Amino acid sequence: MPLDEFSIIQKYFSSLGESQGISLGVGDDCAILDIPKGKQLAVTVDTLVEGIHFPVRASPADIAHRSLRVNLSDIAAMGADPHWFTLALTLPEVSDSWLHQFSQALLTDALSFGCALVGGDTTAGPLSITIQVLGTVSQGKPLIRGGAQEGDSIYITGSLGEGAAALSLFDATSDLARIATKDTLNRLLQRFYRPEPRLKEGAYLRDLASAAIDISDGLIADLGHIAKSSGLGANIELDRLPIASWLLALAEPSYIEDWVLFGGDDYELCFTVPNRNKDLIESMISSRELNAVYIGKMSKIPGVRCFDSRGQAVELKKSGYQHF
Ligand SMILES: [Mg+2]
Repeated sequence: MPLDEFSIIQKYFSSLGESQGISLGVGDDCAILDIPKGKQLAVTVDTLVEGIHFPVRASPADIAHRSLRVNLSDIAAMGADPHWFTLALTLPEVSDSWLHQFSQALLTDALSFGCALVGGDTTAGPLSITIQVLGTVSQGKPLIRGGAQEGDSIYITGSLGEGAAALSLFDATSDLARIATKDTLNRLLQRFYRPEPRLKEGAYLRDLASAAIDISDGLIADLGHIAKSSGLGANIELDRLPIASWLLALAEPSYIEDWVLFGGDDYELCFTVPNRNKDLIESMISSRELNAVYIGKMSKIPGVRCFDSRGQAVELKKSGYQHF
């Protein structure tokens, strides 16, 4: 007999991860959580639907990793610490092996990122996963999008373009899956299913950055959000954009540019730094404490503009990912 909802929760989701402040976890009508004094709650939610946000027949472990990590990336972008999460799982059928793999992968990430499942819901229907992460941030200290000032320096963590390149693996009209080596394929899939939430970087940036966002819709679109929210514009130098050398070897420069500027799903942080903190950020980068690069400056003129190495403006062709 298939498991009912109560048994699914008992068997797979009653004790998943560890965190502070859980007065009452899974098993009652609500979870009861203690928010430490001087902290504010940071809340984010994301739904992933099979066939839209990940390919049909993706492995349960892959789906679990991505579902939690995209949310943790939003927590990182606020300079917050994750503590708790809830899960709403819609399943076409109850499969023990699917649930086992899914919950084990979720447990691995919950433990490594320091958060715990505190509640959820299961329903029958087309496969979809909704995770809500709750974190805390010091009172009045969240890294919001609208905090940048004119002249602030713009930085990016990690490297860009791999998330969008990975997406094109799932596109039947793209020949990337055929031409890429096994090693490259694995790197791209890893990047797609296990994006690295930049929590450590977000914590460093709390007191140093003026604004931050995680890159989910593409650099131009997401930096555009910082610019607009701050009532400013941004100038970026294309030659400074961080691109992994193995990615450069993978496709024509025009594809790469498209992936880097307009492709989403990188889950790197884009952040701005006021002049007074720039030396400190640069020294953290030099000592490899912080993996980030400078890419440009905030400007008074609205919009995001790109420049080449000679300082010439470069015309952009596309705009970022639209959800609808
Ligand atoms: Mg975000």
